[in-house]
Amino acid sequence: MLEKTLVIIKPCGLQREILGEVITRFERKGLRLAGLKMLRLTHEILDVHYAHLVDKPFFARIKESMMASPVVLMCLEGVEAVAVVRMMTGVTNGRNAASGTIRGDFSMSNQENIIHASDSADNAILEIERFFGKNEIFDYQKINSCFVNNSEELLI
Ligand code: ADP
Repeated sequence: MLEKTLVIIKPCGLQREILGEVITRFERKGLRLAGLKMLRLTHEILDVHYAHLVDKPFFARIKESMMASPVVLMCLEGVEAVAVVRMMTGVTNGRNAASGTIRGDFSMSNQENIIHASDSADNAILEIERFFGKNEIFDYQKINSCFVNNSEELLI
């Protein structure tokens, strides 16, 4: 099933100068870049985005970390994109994330773990709406799509 998912390259990813490397991994995998922009996150949007963490003792630190510089937001599309991107992201703590994943290859931290990726199809829809306007999501045909998936896989 063709899905869209949200990725945020966190301030640590921007400061570590690996934006291109992270984007390249998703491009090479065969995901289609449907949206891309830079943004400064605010307390208000982080209270919503990380609502499941507001009661954690480290919540203030997460917010500070996410507002340390602008972030880069991406909307990626592909067959089962939500699960594929989570797999490429790795588990939360970079020290435990498998080698070959983005967190496993670039992070030594449970907080400074380079990217956020939507964790379910329902959350992906909410998160894309949270961060992108409708006119910022582009539905164009990629000329190599028939070399990425067969026609059956692309049927919705
Ligand atoms: P994930 O980003 O893997 O989906 P969560 O939604 O549980 O994980 O957490 C959101 C973010 O909060 C993490 O990516 C990480 O930056 C931060 N975080 C989670 N747990 C901790 C922790 N114990 N200490 C510091 N930061 C944490």
